[in-house]
Amino acid sequence: MLLISYDPVSGWSVPEIKPYGPLALDPMSSCLQYATTIFEGMKAYIGPDGTPRLFRPEQNMARLERSAERVALPPFNSAELLTLIKRLVTLEKRWIPTLPGYSLYIRPTIIGTRAALGVAASDHAMIYVVLSPTGPYFRTGPKPLSLLGVSDTVRAWPGGTGGHKLGLNYSPGFLPQRLAAQQGYDQILWLFGEDKRVTEVGAMNVFVVVKRDDGNWDVITPALDGTILPGVTRASCLALTGAHPERTTLPNLPAALKLHTHERPLTMPELFAWQQEGRLLEAFGVGTAVIVAPIGRIGFEGNDLVLPKHQAGLGPLGSALWERITEIQRGQFEWEGWSVT
Ligand code: PMP
Repeated sequence: MLLISYDPVSGWSVPEIKPYGPLALDPMSSCLQYATTIFEGMKAYIGPDGTPRLFRPEQNMARLERSAERVALPPFNSAELLTLIKRLVTLEKRWIPTLPGYSLYIRPTIIGTRAALGVAASDHAMIYVVLSPTGPYFRTGPKPLSLLGVSDTVRAWPGGTGGHKLGLNYSPGFLPQRLAAQQGYDQILWLFGEDKRVTEVGAMNVFVVVKRDDGNWDVITPALDGTILPGVTRASCLALTGAHPERTTLPNLPAALKLHTHERPLTMPELFAWQQEGRLLEAFGVGTAVIVAPIGRIGFEGNDLVLPKHQAGLGPLGSALWERITEIQRGQFEWEGWSVT
């Protein structure tokens, strides 16, 4: 693991890469008492020439910087941190699985280590980065997820922290997730507000595809209003969808098909209406872990909204995005310098 610590007198220490092992922390540490814990999730892949590759890592670094700022952790140089992560991944290259769907998960973390109970920003901190080989989210091909629409507990709210990747955003979801699982649902569809706006799926961003009157498709994802984590996969799906067909064509989609991307509010009543009109073509969650996960049904206020079934699990747009993003990550398709060695 990579380790760097900060104190207000010396600043950031000389970085160290050392064997994985426990950290020694003062029991009063800010991260243990006041949840000054922030993190990132990214992956390394092996390219056709055997070189390790990262996918848009500067996006994760920028998000980590914003998370640090949000909980008043000391600022750091994210370009330097990326250089160190590249060094760590190169050293541990033998742990990057080459099988399709497998990768090396990278978990950069920053914790506040100020050892005092006073409720105040942590002026001591530690950055550490750990790695773990990881396999495909769906072992036997994409299986449509069943979601429970939940609005009595909320993941994020206007003015809150949902737009940042803070540890404290996640634990309040564990109990609702357990209750949803007890009712037979895989994950929670987090809703917000009187109009039951769709925000995120578990720890993924969400997309829906709706057929327009002219036969082309609207591709809709909730706007970044502070309640949505700005996902790297979300941004990548929007960019690739927006570039089709003029700048690049997505696999297996007709070149004549126009995809209209929208970042806007998306409500449960709209989803039910589109489904009744037969216009709701597909819905999927997106994130680093899964890339694209099909949504099969959504339970909401006692009713189940059932989405069209697709042979491959994923619908046409979901599978096109999954295929293209996977190719880019592995260095098999060059696009805008997204895959970096
Ligand atoms: N939403 C939440 C709450 C998440 O934790 C994640 C995973 N980082 C995402 C969305 C997807 O983001 P990304 O595509 O950057 O992995």
